[in-house]
Parts: sequence; C-alpha cells; structure tokens
Amino acid sequence: MRKRILITGAAGFLGSHLCDKFIKEGYHVIAMDNLITGDLKNIEHLFKLENFEFSHHDITKFIHVPGELDYILHFASPASPIDYLKIPIQTLKVGSLGTHNLLGLAKEKNARILIASTSEIYGDPLVHPQTEEYFGNVNTIGPRGVYDEAKRFQESITMAYHRFHGLETRIVRIFNTYGPRMRLNDGRVIPAFIGQALRGEDLTIFGDGMQTRSFCYVSDQVDGVYKLLLSDYSLPVNIGNPYEITIKDFADEIIRLTGTEQKVTYKELPQDDPLQRQPDISLAKELLGWEPKIDRSEGMKLTLDYFKSLTKEELHQKDHKDFKKHILK
Ligand code: UDP
Repeated sequence: MRKRILITGAAGFLGSHLCDKFIKEGYHVIAMDNLITGDLKNIEHLFKLENFEFSHHDITKFIHVPGELDYILHFASPASPIDYLKIPIQTLKVGSLGTHNLLGLAKEKNARILIASTSEIYGDPLVHPQTEEYFGNVNTIGPRGVYDEAKRFQESITMAYHRFHGLETRIVRIFNTYGPRMRLNDGRVIPAFIGQALRGEDLTIFGDGMQTRSFCYVSDQVDGVYKLLLSDYSLPVNIGNPYEITIKDFADEIIRLTGTEQKVTYKELPQDDPLQRQPDISLAKELLGWEPKIDRSEGMKLTLDYFKSLTKEELHQKDHKDFKKHILK
C-alpha cells in the first residue's frame, strides 16, 4: 500500500516540486490548491499518473479528504511581498484559518503534518546569522505583517496541537529559495531580475542594494523538507543556503550571466525590508544530516534555462491572471 500525502499549495513553486518528490518516492499524492497564486501548468505533467489527484479547494473553508492520510504538507500561502500587498486578507486567512483546518484534518486522520514556516518570522533580524532560538523583530502592522504574523500564529497553533493533542507536527523555516517554476511576476528578486534582463529592461534594485539574502536552490530545499518530515523532531528547523550575497552583487551576477547590455536602476527600499538574512543551519546538519549541495552558479544556470523557455507572452505578463477575481473577496 502506498503512503498517502496531502500537499497544499501544490500548484505553487515549492508545492509542485514537493509533488514531484513524493511521486518519485512512491507516495499517493493528493494535491490541493485554490489557484490564486498557483498555476496548474506546474503540475499538469502529473495528472496522467494513477497515484496523483488534484483537488481545487480553498483550505480556509472546511477540508474534506476521503480515505486515509499518512502525511500532510502545508505549503499554501502567497509568499512574496507584492502578493501580500495585493491579497493581504487571504494571506492572513490561509496562515491562520487554513492552518487550523489542516491541523483538525491531521488530528482526524491521525496524520503527521509539516507546516511551511519562513525566515520572515525573524523579521528584520537583530541576530546574525539567524538561529532557531531567535524570537525575531517583526512589525505587526507593516505591509509584511500580514504574512509574518500569520506564519508566527501558524507556528503557535501547530505547537499547541502538538502539545495539547499530541499531534505529530514538523515546522520548517524556509529561507529564500529559487528555481524553475517561480512566478515571473511575483515581485521576488530572482524572477524580477531575470525577467528584466530577458525583456531588455534595467534591473531595479530597491534601496542601495547593500541588503543581503542567502538563496537556496529548490532541490536542496525539497530534500531538507523531506528529511525533516521523516525525522522525529517537532521544533522549528531552518532550511536554507547560508551563502550570503548583497542584492547589488546579485544584480551584477545576473547581468553577467544573461549577457544583457542593461544597467541597474535604484528604487526606494520597501518598508520593513530586512537588511540582512542568513540561516544558521547547524541544527539541520546535526539533526537531519542535511546541507545544500547546489551552489548558486549551478542553480542559477538551471533557473535561467527555465525562464528562457517561457513564451514571449509569459515573459511580458505583468500581473497574475487570477488576482482581480479574488481581490474583492
Ligand atoms: N529586490 C530588489 N529589486 C526587485 C525585487 C526585490 O532589489 O525588483 C530586493 C528586495 O527589496 C529585498 C531583496 O531583493 O531586499 C529580496 O527580495 P524578495 O522579494 O525576493 O524576498 P524577501 O525580501 O522576502 O527576502
């Protein structure tokens, strides 16, 4: 009998790569998504498989899944600052109500649940690099607050279900991750810079570009999540690549890689944009024997190949097709 796993946010960037991973490992995958920011294109290659099914559902509403479930991976949420600005209330709801519904489902099915948390819970960190013990420095009412606080609540309610109901829970704190299937227009720095370079536009650096990020290639992230799910550790674990770079150096790197003639231009730094971010991954190394294997030159090559394969229309699409329809809800 195949193990059965429910993956939420399955048509999104990380969710779709997780579907691929669990299919490859022989699981029966139930993929769930409301398709606000996800795209069926990311998982359509799986539809023909017997051990894959798709459910078009918004997890902030009651969730019904027939049959048994061994595992749940909760990866449904908008995950970029531009998305939070466009759909702030859905962002809050999916992290709070959606997580509550999934924890209830996990309890009902006696399933182990892994929740996707984020380095955003550290806010604009005053501790560097960030260890799991750090409590964070978050502005509750800023534009990122809807995401950061939903994710912080998500961790709290997950630990409450673990402690009060004895539910088997896992929490991964995901640091900036990139790779094929990122949405070109989601505003994140990697698709933004690559899209601009491929369209022949200047690359827009926010602020002076001295802020840092540490980028993890998606296959490394997926391996980390997989190992954490199968571990017996219920406290949060950072998964990310500690190799840190300034946004300005990164823009120069993309200009070199794409061979574009374009330059960089500077725009105002968005409010509460963290100045630096780097995961301390000692815990993941010790606990899971995990560390990233793909360096940025290899990861960027694979990512660039993907973006180059998009159609001209996709490359020029400025907004996500389904946003408008959901904004008023
Ligand atoms: N950024 C930028 N130009 C862009 C998009 C983003 O300079 O077109 C900056 C952004 O201000 C931030 C960094 O790149 O400092 C990473 O942004 P992203 O939205 O990818 O992720 P996050 O801020 O959540 O780490």
